[in-house]
Formats: sequence, C-alpha cells, structure tokens
Amino acid sequence: MAQASEARVIAHGGGVWSMRVPIPDNPLGYTLVHLMETDRGPVLIDTGWDDPGSWDTLVAGIAACGAEVGDVHGVLITHHHPDHHGLSAKVREASGAWIALHDADADVVRRTREHAPARWYGYMADKLAAAGAPAEHVAPLLAARDAGRTPRLPGLAPALPDRSIVPGELLPLAGRRLRAIWTPGHTPGHVCLHLEEAHPAGLPGHGRLFSGDHLLPGITPHIGLYEDPDDATAVAPSPSSRPRPSGGDPLGDYLDSLERVGRLGVAEVLPAHQHAFTEARPRVRELLTHHEERLTQLRTLLTEPRTPWQLAEHMQWNRPWADIPYGSRNIAVSEAEAHLRRLVKLGRAEAVAGSDPVTYVACGA
Ligand SMILES: [Zn+2]
Ligand SMILES: [Zn+2]
Repeated sequence: MAQASEARVIAHGGGVWSMRVPIPDNPLGYTLVHLMETDRGPVLIDTGWDDPGSWDTLVAGIAACGAEVGDVHGVLITHHHPDHHGLSAKVREASGAWIALHDADADVVRRTREHAPARWYGYMADKLAAAGAPAEHVAPLLAARDAGRTPRLPGLAPALPDRSIVPGELLPLAGRRLRAIWTPGHTPGHVCLHLEEAHPAGLPGHGRLFSGDHLLPGITPHIGLYEDPDDATAVAPSPSSRPRPSGGDPLGDYLDSLERVGRLGVAEVLPAHQHAFTEARPRVRELLTHHEERLTQLRTLLTEPRTPWQLAEHMQWNRPWADIPYGSRNIAVSEAEAHLRRLVKLGRAEAVAGSDPVTYVACGA
C-alpha cells in the first residue's frame, strides 16, 4: 500500500526525476514535482502544496534523487496555482534558490498579496451578480466582505519571484537546453518548459516537455476567466451597467497554446499531475476536439437566451448542478463565461442588447 508521505520518486533518465507531492483533501491526489540536474545544482520544476506533510514528502523526494533541499539552485514555476507554487517560499528559505515565474502570473501573485480580503469578496460578489447568480448565492460573499472576514485559503501569501521566465528564450541553466513556451489559458502566465535534448531512452521526437497543467494525459484543465480585481471594467460598477469582468479570451488562448505545443513534436510529456506519457500530438488533438464539441453543445443551449449562471446550470458536469458545492459552482460559472467569450469571438453567440444581467443567445451559422 502506498503511503501519502511516500514521494514515489521516478528516474526519467538524463538527470530528470519526478516525485509525488501530496495535495491534501484533493481528488487530484498529488503534484508531480520534477527535479532536473544542472551544472550549478538541482533545479525544481514546481514545488507543491504548502502543507507540513507535503513539505516532508518534498524533502524526502529530493533526498531520494541523491540531493538535499539545501542544494536546490533554482525553482521554475509553471503557473501560480497553490499546488505548484505553494512550497516555493520554503524551498527558497532552505536553500537560497531563486524562484522564476512568467510575468503575467507574477502579477497575479502580487495582486493576491496586496489585496485586502474585503476587496476580493466584493470583486467576487460583483462578478457573480453580473453573471446572473441568484441573490442568495451572492449574499455570503457580501456578508464576508462587510464582516471583514479573512478567507481560510492556502496560497494567500504566495512567494514573489526573483526572476521572470521569458517566453521563447533558453533559460540560463548551466549545461542544459530548456526553453520556455508561453501557454496561457489555464492561467494568464502558464508556461511549459521544453527540454531540447535527445530523449535519454532514444524515443523518437524532439526532446521532452514539462507541461504543468497545460497538457495532462487524462484530465482537461479548468479554463475560466482570468480574475483581476484591478480590471477597470470589473471594479467600476454603476447602477445602469453592472460590472462586467473583461478577462480576455482564456479558452481561445488555451486552444492556441495547445496547437503550439502540439507542433513541438516532443518525444515525451512530463506533466504536473497523473503520469508521464508519449502521445503528445494525439492528446492535443483529443483536447481540441473535446473543446470544439463542448462549444457546439453550449451553442445549442443558447437557442434561448441565458445568463452565464443559467448556462452553467445546464452544462454537463461530473454531477447534477444541485449537488455541486458552493465554491465549485463559482468555478463552473467562470468556465461557462470563458466558453461564452469564445463563442462571442467566433461570432456564434452574442449578448442580448439591454439585458441585465447580460444574457447570451446563439447567432451565426
Ligand atoms: Zn493549475
Ligand atoms: Zn495543478
């Protein structure tokens, strides 16, 4: 029987290892933290969830790779989520390592650290009201804002990075060829890291890809609106026009990023959850088809006008809407909004003029 504290280190060859760092009380189970040797010492790709048990597992995992946490030279973070960036500050404290993150996710980290919880609650309440959430769903957020409550969530003080991961460039790592590929979608600053070295087992293809949450063998990553309380369109409510978060077109970004990663023709993918796999191109095609089908389904649901909330209620989830807990409903609505954004961009749906909260209806061919 596997124990939660066991890191289960796998040697992938060519000076690359992975270890399972547990995410407590989460169906994902663990983050695959990767360790890569360089001529200056080991570099970590992601660090895992900030929890004492996860920290112990990470330390034990690094030891099983033949190094010590104090030896870690640098930390490369695929994206700011707490199951990836959570332990970065602890690693830096223990080793003096630098932490590198893409600027767009570094901005998210900075905002998370700076914003008073009240601002965040207010932003979420406005956003949900604008999406058509019923008053009873928004009420707890307004109550929390007015009571000055502090949310009990991990990752509220994530580590500020020391360096930027600059897309397209080779990272300055002694003795290695690792190139950052910007893959926005799951987060605005998500990166994949392409190890442009021959596969150690001679598998055909162009190197290996540390794919973070962008490309996973059996899960579709969550794509919601990019959340930004500083976005002027989201924080300037007026009685006549409700605030409407802009948040770009994350699903469009994601699909573009997928195609870009598919074109790399990598021999093997080393993702941050589940397991390593070799079929990168077929998996990319599968995900593109999945999203195309989902967009078509959603467009069918828009034969009658619906708010993002109403669309989320009618979308297919892994359980009936009535059984989806509060926090997951917020994530579901954000996902519905990301899909609406895409349909509008493609000319397959449009906002109904004068609707408040805004409703969307199918249009075009
Ligand atoms: Zn993530
Ligand atoms: Zn993740």
